[in-house]
Amino acid sequence: MEKETIYLSLGTNLGNREQNLICAIELLSRILGNPLAIAPTIETKPWGFQSENLFLNTVAAFDTILSPHELLAATQEIERTLGRTTKSIDGEYKDRPIDIDILLYGNNIINSPKLTIPHPLMHKRLFVLQPLASIAPQLQHPILNKSMTELLKEI
Ligand code: ADP
Ligand code: MG
Repeated sequence: MEKETIYLSLGTNLGNREQNLICAIELLSRILGNPLAIAPTIETKPWGFQSENLFLNTVAAFDTILSPHELLAATQEIERTLGRTTKSIDGEYKDRPIDIDILLYGNNIINSPKLTIPHPLMHKRLFVLQPLASIAPQLQHPILNKSMTELLKEI
């Protein structure tokens, strides 16, 4: 397997949110090695559900030789480790100590029952594009063929 650069979205709106992000990045680093970049954290309103609890969001880039499904297993394990108990069901979102979504895996396009890459909602979400464009402004979306800066302008 070739080394690929991956971009992960991290979000938290429960508990000690700063600490949740630090712990998630520490646990990711143990598996993937040091991050190539971590975007400045932003605070955002919950997207797709009602809650009093604001999110902290960031995006981190890593290189990995893990396959996409190995990567998903690793990120889900970290979500569990950080105390995530509720999963979204039927499109219903919930408060969560940590949510890790795989945004991009190199230029690969993946459509399996468990994994869709590029993440299907990434280009619609300010809390994804703002941090992503801050660390990778010229990065091209492999399906939309636009840079993160261009996609950010279109939201
Ligand atoms: P959400 O992130 O939509 O709030 P979850 O984190 O509970 O919800 O994820 C639901 C499922 O989404 C996961 O079990 C996973 O199999 C699937 N999934 C599909 N594509 C991706 C992706 N690119 N990154 C992370 N999870 C994904
Ligand atoms: Mg998720």
